Order: sequence, then C-alpha cells, then structure tokens
Amino acid sequence: QAKAAGRNTIRFFNPQMESMVTMRVAMESELRTAVDRKEFTVHYQPQVDTHKGVYGIEALVRWQHPQRGLVSPADFIPIAEETGLILPIGDAVLETACQQLREWSELPCYGDLSISVNVSAHQFRNPAFVDRVSALVNRHAVKPDRLKLELTESLLLENVEEAVAKMNQLKAHGVDFSLDDFGTGYSSLAYLKRLPLEQLKIDRSFVHDVLTDANDAAIIRTIIALGNSLGLDVIAEGVETEAQRDFLVANGCSCYQGYLYSRPLAIEQLSMLLQF
Ligand code: C2E
Ligand code: MG
Ligand code: MG
Ligand code: MG
Repeated sequence: QAKAAGRNTIRFFNPQMESMVTMRVAMESELRTAVDRKEFTVHYQPQVDTHKGVYGIEALVRWQHPQRGLVSPADFIPIAEETGLILPIGDAVLETACQQLREWSELPCYGDLSISVNVSAHQFRNPAFVDRVSALVNRHAVKPDRLKLELTESLLLENVEEAVAKMNQLKAHGVDFSLDDFGTGYSSLAYLKRLPLEQLKIDRSFVHDVLTDANDAAIIRTIIALGNSLGLDVIAEGVETEAQRDFLVANGCSCYQGYLYSRPLAIEQLSMLLQF
C-alpha cells in the first residue's frame, strides 16, 4: 500500500486507472495486429455544391475490428498517432484513395471527382511524407488537383516554414490542401495568407448551433468572408439540416458535407448513391 511505501509516495493507481491502462495497452497491441492484418477500411462522404451537385468525397478511415465491429477513428487515431502506427494506417488510406481516384477517372461522369484525405501531425512531420505521397500520386497517375490533403491549424503551426515548404513541394505534384476544422485552432491571419491552401473547411461545431447562436453565425460569416478575400474555396462540415444549409447558402457558402446529404458510406453504398 501507498502508506506502507512511505510518506512521500503518491499512490496514483486505483483500480479504474489500472483497467484504463490495461485497455490502452490492449488497444495498442490490437492496433499493431490490425495493421498487419489490414483491418482498416475507408468510408466516403460526398461533398456537395448546391449548384453543381457532388464534386468531391472525403475519405474517412474505419477499423473493421473482428469482434467489436466498425471502430470510429476518434477511438483509435489518437493512439495511432502516439505510437506511430498512424504511418502505415495513413499510407493505406492514401493508397486506397488514389486507387479510387484512378477508378473514378475512368468513368465518364465521375472523372472530375476529387478526394480529400485527412493527414495527422505525425504523418506530416515525417521526413518521408512528401516522397510517399508523390510516389503514390505518380504510381496511380492521379490527375492534378484531384487529391486534396486535409491539414489542421495546430499541425501547420508546429513549424510554419517547414509546412509551407512541404506543401509547395506537394503542390508541384498537383496535390491540393484544405484547412480542416477551421476556426477551432489558433489561427493567425499572418500565417494563413502564406499557406498554399485551396480550401477552408468550417468546423462542424460552428454549424451545429448556427441558427440559435449569434456568435456561431458571426464566426461562419467571417470565415466565409475571409475565404473569399483570400481567394480560397470554403466548405462547411457537419451540415445536418436544410435550415443550416440555407443559412450557409444565403451567406455565400454553397459547398457543404454532412448527414443532410449523406453519412460516410462504404464504397458499394457510395456507388449506389452516385449511380456509378
Ligand atoms: P474530420 O476530418 O473533421 O471529419 C469529419 C467528421 O465528421 C467525420 O467523423 C464524419 O463522419 C463526421 N460527420 C460528417 N458529417 C456529419 C454531420 O452531419 N454531423 C456530425 N455530427 N458529424 C458528421 P469520423 O469519420 O468519425 O472522423 C473523425 C475524425 O477522425 C476526422 O475528423 C479526422 O480528424 C479523423 N480521421 C478520419 N479518417 C482519418 C484518416 O484517414 N487519417 C487521419 N489522420 N485522421 C482521420
Ligand atoms: Mg477532415
Ligand atoms: Mg473537420
Ligand atoms: Mg473534426
């Protein structure tokens, strides 16, 4: 016991904590196995322009766990980040996305579809990142501008110089960038203008209460104005109702993704939705 161990010993383990640690250790080793067994799959959520229809798709990873079923990224990405397992997982998602782009590019009506892939800090920081992505883009003959990488403010702020350099290298290979969850991080307008971005993505937390919270409405209007004046596309995420969409359209943002149009879907369901 802690007391027996001496006055200055802090007994920081209780049974709940112990079981959390056990779970965490189990999760980590299961994740490793999952990487070896390729248990990850990608779901796809359409990005819609109210004038033109579906123009892009966001790739969202899921863990097809043999017992627990589909595990959401929120439950395993943080651990994958900490352990570095995000590298093989992220590679697999990028590979799948590029393969999918290749298939779409061969279908007459879907040749213009773009795909957005989330990139985490650990992946982006990796010195081999640019080479990995450009190798994939070349191998799958991805057309320029069809692959969009979603980065977050915190990731870019870690080292702005380095981020800008990496982004420019990738841009030379035809890769585009979107700033995900925009508005939730520590944005500085000074660095924002230096980043070679194509798109700002309004975080869904602002969209959620836009009709009842005047501050959220003001933030959304500001992001749209900012995007317009910097020459960036703006898309809103987490649009669940027609009223939310109507607010966005009335304020000059015609692109959105969210449950209103479709949840993220397995590829077969997406194909049915889009009538491939
Ligand atoms: P995110 O990139 O911001 O993705 C949007 C999340 O919002 C997705 O959750 C999506 O399913 C969810 N969403 C879409 N429409 C709606 C809506 O109308 N209402 C609500 N409430 N939610 C909506 P998901 O798929 O669980 O992914 C969560 C996060 O995990 C992502 O946030 C992203 O940060 C991360 N993630 C997902 N896939 C990957 C990946 O392949 N690599 C990395 N590094 N991170 C990933
Ligand atoms: Mg995203
Ligand atoms: Mg987001
Ligand atoms: Mg998010």
